Amino acid sequence: MPILTYMITCVDLSVSYVYVLQYNSINVQVKECVKMKEITEKFDMEKVIEEFERLTKDAENVQKETLKRILEENASAEYLQSLGLNGRTDPESFKACVPLVTYKDLEPYINRIVDGDVSPILTGKPITAISLSSGTSQGKQKCIPWNDELFETTVQIYQTSFAFRNKEFPIQNGKALSFIYSSKLSQTKGGVTAGTATANVFSHPGYRHTMQALKSPSVSPDEVIFSPDFQQTLYCHLLCGLLFREEVSLISAPFAHSLVNAFRTFEQVWEELVTDIREGVLSSRITHPFIRTAMSKLLTPNPELANLIHKKCIGLSNWYGLIPELFPNAKYLLGIMTGSMEHYLKKLRHYAGEVPLVTSEYGSSEGWIASNVNPKVAPEFATYVVLPQIAYFEFIPLKQLDGTKVELEPVGLTDVKIGEEYEVVFTNPAGLYRYKLGDVVKVIGLRNSTPEIRFIRRNNLMLTINIDKNTEVDLQLSVETASKLLAEEKIEVIDYTSYIDLSKEPGHYVIFWEISGEASDDVLDECCTCLDKSFVDLGYVSSRKVKGIGALELRLVRKGTFQKILEHYVGLGASAAQFKTPRCIGPTNTKVLQILLENVVKNYISSAYN
Ligand code: AMP
Repeated sequence: MPILTYMITCVDLSVSYVYVLQYNSINVQVKECVKMKEITEKFDMEKVIEEFERLTKDAENVQKETLKRILEENASAEYLQSLGLNGRTDPESFKACVPLVTYKDLEPYINRIVDGDVSPILTGKPITAISLSSGTSQGKQKCIPWNDELFETTVQIYQTSFAFRNKEFPIQNGKALSFIYSSKLSQTKGGVTAGTATANVFSHPGYRHTMQALKSPSVSPDEVIFSPDFQQTLYCHLLCGLLFREEVSLISAPFAHSLVNAFRTFEQVWEELVTDIREGVLSSRITHPFIRTAMSKLLTPNPELANLIHKKCIGLSNWYGLIPELFPNAKYLLGIMTGSMEHYLKKLRHYAGEVPLVTSEYGSSEGWIASNVNPKVAPEFATYVVLPQIAYFEFIPLKQLDGTKVELEPVGLTDVKIGEEYEVVFTNPAGLYRYKLGDVVKVIGLRNSTPEIRFIRRNNLMLTINIDKNTEVDLQLSVETASKLLAEEKIEVIDYTSYIDLSKEPGHYVIFWEISGEASDDVLDECCTCLDKSFVDLGYVSSRKVKGIGALELRLVRKGTFQKILEHYVGLGASAAQFKTPRCIGPTNTKVLQILLENVVKNYISSAYN
């Protein structure tokens, strides 16, 4: 087949969509281009809410239709053909023929796609792009098929969350200070575009339009967002935020970690930022010529603004209320703030003062799941409503029978029970069928006929030596309890992780803490014992009592250690925007363990159960 390419440009006043098309698919792709423009440009808040109500009232049928659509579009895929569906699209046949899978099961198929096999493997249309997951939750980056349909679901979820948010916190025509980082997309050896999920979203031709329609275009130019160096990007985001401070109506990042990281960085670089504004010259720390060029268009000497920011900063007490001081028109802070992000809420509230924190959506590199339609609810109590049209969902009930975990048959979206915990399984339009995501959620209620869920945790057991079973939530609670002792000294736990030390018998838990100030040994001894006592799992307590598990050890690491861990992951190609501190370091994660061990400044041994 001769490969003849055409450039089709759908132009409007503010943005150009450029599609490279193969000659034999021009009509289809022009239609897609027009459809994408319609989806991203037209945003009518009332219509989005009406549509949400309609779809969630009819969730069972919408799910059937969604499954039918996915299976029909991908009927020619080798994977589905091999499973003998023979054109059937009903949920019963689907469940009977298609197995539940994890990433590992699909990896051989995905590897062929990555290597450039364009035959219909997992989807009818060839997959031409993949998203690299952050790799922080499972230690290894996954290659997830990505296509325009996934971008459409991104728009749907953004529009739904925004529609409800904007009812509560209306934004007129502002800008967003968005801490987004999009490393450049690369090509695999097989010619498939590869980038992080966030990079795929941010670099999509429809993204900028979507954000404009949602009154949230970024204050930063594209050159900043697409820079290969996230530290330089972060500095410039902060600078752009200050330059447009009056226009900033919301401050956002995909995950709360990035928000806290940004303002911690501000504490360190604010004087340099003020100098840049005063002199109208960008700091020499920014070395990429294309960022310098883009930023120089925004910077002119502005001593008045510099003086104002300087005065505001020195007037703050320990940076409390920094955000409203700097950005007087910011209506809220937005990002994923639940699950492992809860640890950062305290610090975020410190910076935010009276400005509300709003958790955004629930999703993953593999696809979106749910929107936050109750934005006024504090993140600690937030729930997400599953959108029945974005994927076909199933939920595996997680039950303990006689103390052992049993895995039951998955149930459909509208068959879940309020109060129960489930593992999420979904079938998406980009080639994942009955895919076990590995997240545990709890059904809190129903919104019309679709579940309202709370994110609980990743499903993998984290800390276990013998009969003990502790999850990331158990660790989080233990850290939360112990860190209250530090809070009395006005010191906070900047970040934490854990590790099972089996180098000596019996093995024991090691918790790494980076803290914000100097605490006395007495206090840290107490924190260590408190950490140990706060793991209340019966297996742990009984093992500790009989010395089947050794005393818990708290290791204090140098300031900046967790930043080094972030940089390590970013160096491996993970997105800084999707970064989640790994809460337990496995024995094979040698590099991260090495970073931690090299930075230990002091250790403490628990005196509990002596
Ligand atoms: P990634 O691998 O970077 O795509 O991260 C996806 C994972 O982030 C999900 O599987 C969840 O474990 C976590 N996550 C995403 N959204 C939320 C949320 N709203 N609350 C808690 N955790 C979330």
